[in-house]
Amino acid sequence: MTKTLSNRYDVVVIGGGAAGLSGALTLTRARRSVLVIDAGEPRNAPAAHLHGFLSRDGAAPSELLANGRREVTGYGGEIVSGVVTSARREEAGGFRLTLADGRVTTARRLLVTTGLTDELPDLPGLAELWGTDVIHCPYCHGWEVRDQPIGVLSTGPMAIHQAQLFRQWSDDVVLFGHTGPEPTETEHRALTARGIRFVAGQVERLETENGRLHAVRMVDGSTVERRALVVAPRFTARVGPLAELGLTAVPLQLNDFRLGSRLTADPTGRTEVPGVWVAGNVTDLMAQLIAAAASGVTAAAAINGDLIDEEVATALRAADNPFSAAAEAALNAQVQGDRRHGLTVG
Ligand SMILES: Cc1cc2nc3c(=O)[nH]c(=O)nc-3n(C[C@H](O)[C@H](O)[C@H](O)COP(=O)(O)OP(=O)(O)OC[C@H]3O[C@@H](n4cnc5c(N)ncnc54)[C@H](O)[C@@H]3O)c2cc1C
Repeated sequence: MTKTLSNRYDVVVIGGGAAGLSGALTLTRARRSVLVIDAGEPRNAPAAHLHGFLSRDGAAPSELLANGRREVTGYGGEIVSGVVTSARREEAGGFRLTLADGRVTTARRLLVTTGLTDELPDLPGLAELWGTDVIHCPYCHGWEVRDQPIGVLSTGPMAIHQAQLFRQWSDDVVLFGHTGPEPTETEHRALTARGIRFVAGQVERLETENGRLHAVRMVDGSTVERRALVVAPRFTARVGPLAELGLTAVPLQLNDFRLGSRLTADPTGRTEVPGVWVAGNVTDLMAQLIAAAASGVTAAAAINGDLIDEEVATALRAADNPFSAAAEAALNAQVQGDRRHGLTVG
């Protein structure tokens, strides 16, 4: 599918996951011209089902997005596949975006919902099982692994907390010391008190049977049978082209340990760069789907309010100067024309 983009939108949404599509839905219903540009790699794509999203529990991740796309386009929003590679501020106001395939468009405001990348521990056999038997989120996957032999791979300071958390779902939890810090005496006592076994030493690899996790093999050659392994990926915000606008991710640290990075914003998603909002995992690393979707709605309402402020100012200038009013009217007519005729599908 190729699409020619209109040359001007009220809002371009970069990223069409839960946050981006929710934002786009609110903006299209507010009668804004909206383009969603999506690279098509939502974070939870490796999972077969999504959980914890009220009214959608158990749906396929692709189903949620297909419904969202239908709703957005149903109100006139446009969605294209593509990767935004460059975002620049225009002298006359607004932003100019370039896609990897060379397409270009402009927008009065940007909503950035590009999500995050899960940087996984480097262990043979681990990446292949990500999202099935290698998991991170108890609220996404805990129920599905209840009463199973669960392992927790320690690579940092969150592992003990994760082990205690997953103990809620299974009474057979093993914490693998691997490269993480040695638990303190108090932590050892708390693990033992809840029946969590600590296995010291480095893990060598994960072993599978019929494509499913079977065991964790240690460097000393011993194995521990497990059906699920909990890991703590580094959550790295997908900032991509936004650095050009001066938006850089800030590290999220726990003492000396880097948990990830995120774009900072106020509670509505407004960033320090005027005209740019963020929502979802790119700014809130812990947001599950429903929270990401909600933040998209919040940002969309704030963007619409900001556009209205601009339109009030324009209207006041026009009211004060009839000559300029004519010019504004001509400009508005051109924008409306762009909206009606800009999109062609081939
Ligand atoms: C394995 C796994 C399972 C999960 N299961 C659940 C679950 O059951 N329930 C739950 O609530 N949460 C779950 N989550 C968390 C869930 O994935 C996130 O909450 C959610 O994806 C965040 O939505 P988002 O819109 O912020 O980002 P995403 O869903 O990641 O969407 C971002 C989109 O932006 C696109 N993009 C990135 N850069 C660009 C660019 N430069 N140009 C254009 N597009 C771009 C990406 O390709 C992607 O399509 C899970 C996470 C993982 C890793």
